[in-house]
Amino acid sequence: TKYVYTWGAGKADGDGSMKALLGGKGANLAEMTKIGLPVPAGFTVTTEVCTYFYDNKRTYPAVLRAQMEAGIANMEKIMGYKFGDSEGFPLLVAVRSGARDSMPGMMDTVLNLGLNDKTVAALAKATDNERFAWDCYRRFIQMYGDVVLGVQKTPDEDHEPFEAVIEKYKHEAYGSDIVDSDLTAEDNKELVSRFKTLVKDRTGHGFPEDPWEQLEGAAGAVFGSWMNDRAIVYRRKYGIPAAWGTAVNVQAMVFGNTGPNSGSGVAFTRNPANGENVLYGEFLVNAQGEDVVAGVRTPDEVSGMAEALPAAFKELMKVRAILEKHFRDVQDVEFTIQDGKLYMLQTRNGKRTAAAALKFAADMVKEKLISWETAVMRNPADQLDQLLAPVFDINEAKKATVIAKGLPAGPGAASGKIYLNADRAVAAAEKGEKVLLVRVETSPEDLRGMIAAEGILTARGGVSSHAALVARQMGKVCVCGASAIEVDYDKKTVTAGDQVFKEGDFLSIDGTAGTVYGGELATEPSEIITGLINNKKASQKTEKFQNFVQLMEWCSKATRLGVRTNADTPEQVKNAVAFGAEGIGLTRTEHMFFEGDRIDAMREMILANTEEDRKKALKKLLPHQRKDFFGIFKALEGKPATIRLLDPPLHEFLPNTEESQADLAEKMGVPVEEISHRVHELHEQNPMLGHRGCRLAISYPEIAEMQAQAIFEAAAQCVKKGIPVKPEVMVPLVGYARELELQVNIIHRVAAEVKADKGVEFDYLVGTMIEVPRGALTADEIAKHAQFFSFGTNDLTQTALGVSRDDMGSFLSSYQENDIYPKNPFASLDTTGVGQLMEIAVEKGRSVKPDIKLGICGEHGGDPDSVTFCHKLGLAYVSCSPYRVPVARLAAAQAAI
Ligand code: ADP
Ligand code: MG
Ligand code: MG
Repeated sequence: TKYVYTWGAGKADGDGSMKALLGGKGANLAEMTKIGLPVPAGFTVTTEVCTYFYDNKRTYPAVLRAQMEAGIANMEKIMGYKFGDSEGFPLLVAVRSGARDSMPGMMDTVLNLGLNDKTVAALAKATDNERFAWDCYRRFIQMYGDVVLGVQKTPDEDHEPFEAVIEKYKHEAYGSDIVDSDLTAEDNKELVSRFKTLVKDRTGHGFPEDPWEQLEGAAGAVFGSWMNDRAIVYRRKYGIPAAWGTAVNVQAMVFGNTGPNSGSGVAFTRNPANGENVLYGEFLVNAQGEDVVAGVRTPDEVSGMAEALPAAFKELMKVRAILEKHFRDVQDVEFTIQDGKLYMLQTRNGKRTAAAALKFAADMVKEKLISWETAVMRNPADQLDQLLAPVFDINEAKKATVIAKGLPAGPGAASGKIYLNADRAVAAAEKGEKVLLVRVETSPEDLRGMIAAEGILTARGGVSSHAALVARQMGKVCVCGASAIEVDYDKKTVTAGDQVFKEGDFLSIDGTAGTVYGGELATEPSEIITGLINNKKASQKTEKFQNFVQLMEWCSKATRLGVRTNADTPEQVKNAVAFGAEGIGLTRTEHMFFEGDRIDAMREMILANTEEDRKKALKKLLPHQRKDFFGIFKALEGKPATIRLLDPPLHEFLPNTEESQADLAEKMGVPVEEISHRVHELHEQNPMLGHRGCRLAISYPEIAEMQAQAIFEAAAQCVKKGIPVKPEVMVPLVGYARELELQVNIIHRVAAEVKADKGVEFDYLVGTMIEVPRGALTADEIAKHAQFFSFGTNDLTQTALGVSRDDMGSFLSSYQENDIYPKNPFASLDTTGVGQLMEIAVEKGRSVKPDIKLGICGEHGGDPDSVTFCHKLGLAYVSCSPYRVPVARLAAAQAAI
């Protein structure tokens, strides 16, 4: 097997399409080499070796060493240096991890590998630069010691051990803080010696001198880091399978630390926070790349390179254009300049906020870089709701005091109680508090806290710091590098000028502007909401609004799957229609019974002892329901409305405290015992599987009669007023064809009566929910009585999995941690199990009625993966809550492209 893929001097074994085998970094290094960009030579050890490593007790395939030797030989040939050379310029390498999907800051990198007491002397001699050579050696021992040998902070230490040695030395030698790049050759020699002592003390072994031993150790550490805690947390969050593994890249070093003509940087070809078409990033003179991202020295803006290193900057701008044209997407690049010459070390598609994604896509269509279909695909459906998220209320923000300014790293508005460490932030969020995580700077250990927080604020670090990267990816509001605040971990305070905020106090951050406010601030809806729903002209003029509307038009052009909404009021209907809903997929009539004093009539109905009394109570409910339906039909302007007949168990409508029972007894003029007795009678051990759904109307057909009458009389009213209507009456929880048949007979009879009575004609459909397994399995029999099916995937999931949605909280997390549920099955459809029941129902339903109308109305209708599944199943529509409609439209379009 070929385990090693080389690249260099314009040629490469692999290419950009081989990310599964070579990892994202390795594949793109090969691709950049092939298109003629300046990439230092190297090779990739494939992800298959990682799999082998874990399958075989952390050992390697026998042939690997020989293939790596050939890889090194190839680099030596191209570079003209020898690995481990103690005479001439020694070939030094970077050992870099590279998973299929980038995992920022999650895996460890070792630079300057190949140095030892002999090769460092050779390097100093060959470059005539002792400071540089020993700077590299110091860095190497520090990184290798940390990553490979595990010389790391213990719980009772405040600082990283190597950093502590440096601090101590600086104070001894200079009495003050100086930056690392000002350390002399002698300083670095002394530090190397102290580092070696530290390694010996901590590990019991001397620092490895043999370059091959170093190389194998580093490769092993990269493979090992695939299973470290933070990598596991990250993979869980983003659903990356552990089985993918990581590749290892071994690449010839280029040096940004040779002096003022050198440097390192990271950049996005466009601004990943707001989408602006300008090079965006950071850069440090006389530094190796780790210095830029570590957040230790605050880097300069990349535009500053134009002055510091003009020729290399021009080169970089050229590369920017080539990369965007080649990859046809915004790139996130890492580069180094050695003595004025630019080298590219990495490129990948840039992570972006939803706002940036929208603008990138719209702009690139205009620039003819991509098609509109690609533009649709470039907007992540699960992030689209970020665009609908609130911003700070302008007036409130004007009144509030700005306590600091930082970099706008994750757009949006967030207000919350501050917590200074991840554990406490998580604990507070679990209690339901809104939390802001405030740190000097973040590291991968803070990930849990960042996930739990509404927003993230850091005092140090630039736009490519860990905090900024992760925030952008998670869509968190983030302000970083707010240097005016002082974070004191011991006292648990955040100080800005003379204001002191304690843990638990409120701060607010505006991640679009980079502003930090003292106290709690109110928010207001985004321009997209105000533009669409309130028809605010100023909002409609914004670029964000226009790009959004454009995107939705493209979605309509691409899609085959309709999107409806779950709505119970005319207000909700209007909002959903503004978002592009094509009708109602589910109206839950029971919500209507809780309004005003209707509940009294409802309770009378439930408490009634005879059919006659029940009918009397139902008569009182009829006008209310009719009015509700009329309002909804009117708001829909002729779009279809699926209305579900009464579904929940009756006890849900009854008072369950002694006090409220006494209250009701008085109102109804009956003894309180009568009420408590009836409540007791209706009590069920397992209401989810009890007397509910169509079972109610089987026992009490007059309920279905009343509801049908209300629906059809409202329809008749509309027809008389010239408002078009399309009611679709839906019977819940059907498992037997006969259940549906009985209901359908009632509904058709009532429809005929209303038509005759009012003297008008209208069309309507009668159908059923498929939400219990027996219903799905006997869909052919059921279809004989149904004009449509709507999958009620909430109940179908409950009944198929045998899991109650309300009781899963106690085991959900252990089920996810043990990889039993890939995702919460109530949020994202279990396509293998529940999906199979749906497939059966579709097939059997169509075998009887080829053109039976099919939809879904569970929560899943707003989940992108579930929408994709529904598209494949050939459903006519999905239905979701009003604010999820744009997400569903986007997901539906993407499924069709
Ligand atoms: P990560 O995946 O964490 O970004 P990388 O493998 O990209 O890790 O390495 C981190 C940094 O190390 C890079 O940004 C780059 O500046 C530096 N680096 C990596 N490879 C080389 C190299 N061949 N020469 C010089 N610097 C390098
Ligand atoms: Mg990198
Ligand atoms: Mg249901």
